Formats: sequence, structure tokens, C-alpha cells
Amino acid sequence: MLAQQPLVALEQRKNPPSFLTKNVLKAYKPLRALHLYLSFKGEIKIGCGIFGIASFENEPVFPCVYWGLRAQNHRGHQSHGFLTYNNEKFFVHKSLDLVPKLKTSAIQEWFGRLPGSLGIGNVRYTTSGKCDDQSIVQGTQPMTAEANGIKLAVSFNGNIVNTQQLKQEMAGHFPNFTCSCDSDLVCNKLLLELTKGKDLTSAVKEVMLSLDGAFSVVGITGSGDFFAFKDPHGVKPLCAGHSPDGAMYAFSSETVSLDINGLVRDFELEPGELATVTKNGFKREQLIENPRKAFCAFEFAYFARPDSRFDGKFVYEIREDFGRNIVHEYPEIVNDADIILSVPETGDDSAMGVHEASGLRWERASRRHRYVTERAFILLNDERFSTIDRKVNILGSKVAGKRVIITEDSIVRGDTTKVIIEKLRKAGAKKVYMFVTFPRIIGPCFYGIDMSSYGQLIGSRHSTEEIAKIIGADTVCYQSIDGLVRATGESHDNLCMACITGKYPTPLAQKMADEMKTRFFNGYTEKGRIYEADEACIISSGKTN
Ligand code: SF4
Repeated sequence: MLAQQPLVALEQRKNPPSFLTKNVLKAYKPLRALHLYLSFKGEIKIGCGIFGIASFENEPVFPCVYWGLRAQNHRGHQSHGFLTYNNEKFFVHKSLDLVPKLKTSAIQEWFGRLPGSLGIGNVRYTTSGKCDDQSIVQGTQPMTAEANGIKLAVSFNGNIVNTQQLKQEMAGHFPNFTCSCDSDLVCNKLLLELTKGKDLTSAVKEVMLSLDGAFSVVGITGSGDFFAFKDPHGVKPLCAGHSPDGAMYAFSSETVSLDINGLVRDFELEPGELATVTKNGFKREQLIENPRKAFCAFEFAYFARPDSRFDGKFVYEIREDFGRNIVHEYPEIVNDADIILSVPETGDDSAMGVHEASGLRWERASRRHRYVTERAFILLNDERFSTIDRKVNILGSKVAGKRVIITEDSIVRGDTTKVIIEKLRKAGAKKVYMFVTFPRIIGPCFYGIDMSSYGQLIGSRHSTEEIAKIIGADTVCYQSIDGLVRATGESHDNLCMACITGKYPTPLAQKMADEMKTRFFNGYTEKGRIYEADEACIISSGKTN
């Protein structure tokens, strides 16, 4: 194993080490600022982040993969993995936790262990499989598979709903197949199609048609083909970019990983599209006709970094619009408030919008402890409560006797918000109004966000008024779905909003959601994630009565 301890961080050095490639050097100055920003932000999010890059000048790409993942660590903090390709061999490093800072003295060792001018990587938070350390290690990506002399490596973001059916199919073809998570299934399903003699295009098309769920994938074949594809609904983000000199081509979940490597964004992959990298640049193929786009609306409110762009618009601009919308939707609350606060830091951008539209002072009286960085929502249950209480500090004298609007991106379980409101009350706030930019979450997500059962969602069981009472707010004001859609610049039909509308873009997810909802409201106790429960197998097999 390579050294994992944070040593002399590259971005803390006065001068960058001379052996770094020119692309890393280009990124050096912004990195220092970015690192400071992330340290303060303490923002670690849910799901997976993927990145892949090829150099046509035979430069080692490990540093680019490294920085690509560091920039996306908010998308998954439980584990990370790098894979490079050199002389028809894969070189892999996987480890738990955040992408580490690198010791300068260990850089040559990293280059030696991860050689090659083609590489992919992944940061992951578990949304399928078990959550103990051993299982997380097994589920750490990139995944590799090999059969009949064909090799494959993939890095995946999303979640597969028809896992039971695919597991049976894989077990039938690969006797030694043991599935640790759905990325294993995606990798092996694609391998299976390749072993049937299909070319990459036909094999990927079969994968797109066979899987129910969300999947954005970047991968490398044993013969060095570099590719990326999106599911037919395009639920998860995946963009492509290149270096200004045309020497490097990359795929990434978010544009921030292109920025950090000095790359220019070219396009967002379309739903059902396969993109490959050739000596002439990107080759794009639309494999699914008339796909129905259903991009995750929660990316705009919560997951994506504010400095990422979707279709040319920065996420923070969209969040500011959310704030403006909510002011226009609740004028009577605005008239009854003295100041605005935000839950740092995903509430900050919408607070700016509220401030601009209302004229109320945005008091920066809720501060995050800089080095308490765990994100409450994605911590395992037993870690959650103490961390929430520790990580946000309320500047009591600024809120005492005031009627406060506090902006938040979403309410999932309600426990984070409840603790913050308790702190505001203790500090003497006279009234607390919650402005929540993502509408009430009423159902689970099947597509890679770990809010995967009805029982864990406060909004599935309680009305808005009840939620306000439970969390201790005077009023909870959710942004309307129409306002959310308008700010994103998308149409209703092009967004997945299943967790707020109950309308799922894929058929099996809809079926499972409907049946499990009926069971849940008839007193059934859910046992973990819906799509992994025994009942999911029965529902997906169509044997329910
Ligand atoms: S269900 Fe919600 S969180 Fe999941 S992909 Fe759809 S919008 Fe995103």
C-alpha cells in the first residue's frame, strides 16, 4: 500500500515540486485557494464522483486523476481509487476515506506504481452493499473484470435498481462472480457483452437497454479504448473536456475537475450517449433513440459544487435564483423577519438570493468550525448527532431577540435542522423561519443518493406544518417545484424529481416505490435500502400479488 498520511501537502509548498507535469503546475495556484475553500466549507457529499483522462503526449496522467478526484471529494468520502493503463496492463490503487494529501517524498513512488498516459478514478459513498470497512473496500472503484482474454476497468456513478436480476445473469455466466456492489454488475455486464463478440458500441448499447437505474460510466478496455457513457435518462452528470493544446481529453462528473486540471469543457454527454476518445478527439454516438432526459434535480440544490457548471450556468447562480424565488413565494414571512442566516455552506448561495430580493440583512452569524468537516447527512447513524452539534457555531449576540430567516438546501431526516434551530433558540432568536430550497422530499431515491427508504424521510410521513413543529421552526417554507425548475433552466420533463413528486423515470423504480410505499403506510417496517431488500427481488421478478 502507498503512504496515506497527510505529509507536506503539495498546495502548502511555497514552490511546487519540479517533477510535477505541466498540467499540475498550471493548476498549482488555484489549488491552494481551492484547498482553503474546501477546508472551510467542510462539504462532503453523497454518491460517487468519476474522472478519466488520456494524454496523447504520453505524459503520466496520475497527477491529473489525483487532482480530478480531489476536486470532487464532496461527491464521496468513504473511499477512493486510481487506475492507470500502461502496456496493456491496469495499475490500481484503492483506499478508504478522502483522497489524501501526498507527501512530496512519496510522489515518485506514486508515479512508479501508477504509470501510464491513460487513467480513471473514483470517489465513493456507499449507496449499495454493506457499510462495514471490508465491504467498502470491496466496493471501492474503479472495478476491473476479465474473461476470455478480455479485460475491462470502469468507474461508475449512479445506482442500479434491477440488481437481483443482473446478479443471477452474471452468476450464470461467470461461475466465480461475487458481487460486492452495483459497479461490479455494470463492469461484468459490459464484459459479458464484449465476450459475446460484440464491439464496444453494441456492448454498451446492450448495457443501456438491460439496466434499470442511473449510471454514468467512464472506462478503459484491455486494448486501451477510452470511453464514457450515460444511461438513457442521463440522471447523473458527466461532461467532457480537453486541454487547450489538444494533448489531453477527459471525462468528469463535474466541471470543477476539468478546471483544476486546466482543461476546457466541451460538452455534457446526452442521455444514452457513448463517447470515445480517438487521436482525432471525441467520437460521439447516440445509442438510444429519443431518450427521456431525467437529470437529478437534487444536483442543483445540494450535491454539485457551486462552482461547477451545468449547461453553462454555475450552480451557485441557480442557488441564488432559488433564494429569489422563495422570497417572492413567501412575502408575508419576509415582511415579518429581521435578518437572514444560512446553514453553511450549501445554504449560503440561496441566502444571497434572499438577501438581494428582500433587502434584509444577511447576518453571517452561523459559522462552521473550519476543521470539523464531516457532513452530517452522510455519516452513519451513530456518528450523526454529536457531529452536527459540533460543527456549526451560532454567534448568539447577533440573533438574540431577532426574527430570523434561515436558508437550508433540503430537509432529509430533519435532525441537522433541528439541532441548528435549537441552537438559534438557545441564542435567543425570537422567531425562526426555515427557507428550504429543495421542495419537501416525500420518497426515496433509487438512483445513487442514500435516502433510500420511506422511514428515514421526515417529509414522507409528515406535512410541512408537522415538520415545522418537529424541528422547532415557526414556519417551514419550501420553494415550489415550479420555482426550482425555472431556476435550473430545464423543463419539468427533463428533470428527475422523483423524490419530491413520486414519479420515477424508470419502470422498476416506480413499481418498487409504489409497492413499498403501500406496505410502509400499512405498518411494514423497512429493512434498509428498498432496492436491496428481499422484497425488491420479489417485486422485480413480478411475483407480487
Ligand atoms: S430521486 Fe431525487 S435525489 Fe434521486 S435522482 Fe431523482 S431527483 Fe435526484
